[in-house]
Amino acid sequence: EFDVLVVGGGPAGASAAIYAARKGLKTGIVAERFGGQVADTVGIENFISVQKTEGPKLVAQLEEHVKDYDVDIITQQKAVTLGKSGNVEVALESGATLSSKSVILATGARWREMNVPGEQEYRGKGVAYCPHCDGPLFKGKKVAVIGGGNSGIEAAIDLANIVEHVTVLEFADTLRADEVLIKKANSLGNIEIIKNAQTTEVIGDGTRVTGLNYTDRVSGDEHSISLAGIFVQIGLIPNTEFLKGSIELTPFGEIVIDDKGATSMPGVYAAGDATTTPFKQIIIAMGSGATASLGAFDYLIRHADG
Ligand code: FAD
Repeated sequence: EFDVLVVGGGPAGASAAIYAARKGLKTGIVAERFGGQVADTVGIENFISVQKTEGPKLVAQLEEHVKDYDVDIITQQKAVTLGKSGNVEVALESGATLSSKSVILATGARWREMNVPGEQEYRGKGVAYCPHCDGPLFKGKKVAVIGGGNSGIEAAIDLANIVEHVTVLEFADTLRADEVLIKKANSLGNIEIIKNAQTTEVIGDGTRVTGLNYTDRVSGDEHSISLAGIFVQIGLIPNTEFLKGSIELTPFGEIVIDDKGATSMPGVYAAGDATTTPFKQIIIAMGSGATASLGAFDYLIRHADG
């Protein structure tokens, strides 16, 4: 039995576990894969105080830091249900159940992918998912944004300040973004918006992206654009499917939390990209992991025996 069981081993989970262990609480982390999205990241230049690092390096440092403390790390295990019977119970896919006085959910999120040829090959080599992270890498170059929802149009406006030109490709015949964002995008001279455009392939020279192909869904014509970067903005999906019915989620599947990271289930806290936090970044995930952990500590000193 744990005092604090953290579900998820990304930056939010690692931070939560360290904060819990430093309170002398019996702490565990259960994760499918330690490191989370950071393990898939190439360059990181916005983790403040570290000018430049790489995903796998930061993951190794996170793991070392967690291992400095007495934390049970259980990896390659997927949580499949969350329940409460006195303690909070987390059932794993393996059939085992972990019991804890409090739980911190930090299961993160995943970017929806285009699923077209070239996307995987050029991931991190021109195919990007996070404008806050990778925008500056394309300074003075041409890029595309895939998706004309709020995140796509926001990304286009953001990138237009940095890059030479942004082409937005929207699959539907209308943009789903808020009117105020569309107006702003239309007022900028270096954003072009193409609707009814189905991206069909990411083109590269073997080392980096050089362009993309799309089909005009009305005329059926094939088009090719030369560019250096492609920002895919067609959705960020929280890894919270297993929580449906047990705690409050938004219609998008984000875990609803309060200022202390508390969820709708007493003793269950949450942090990072899986939650309603409006911005999804490493530094923010770590901060929210610390908050959720201190929230759980607050709960334990008030509610738990022993
Ligand atoms: P995640 O990192 O998603 O970790 C989730 C953890 O939960 C993982 O350990 C996962 O295995 C585990 N998990 C999920 N479901 C279950 C389950 N059911 N049972 C058990 N374990 C589970 N941010 C920046 O600040 N700077 C950058 O440069 C940057 N670049 C990025 C580049 C890429 C390609 C990507 C994908 C993201 C990037 N981000 C960047 C965003 C950043 O990685 C995330 O905001 C951050 O990792 C979120 O942390 P998290 O701990 O909430 O979730």
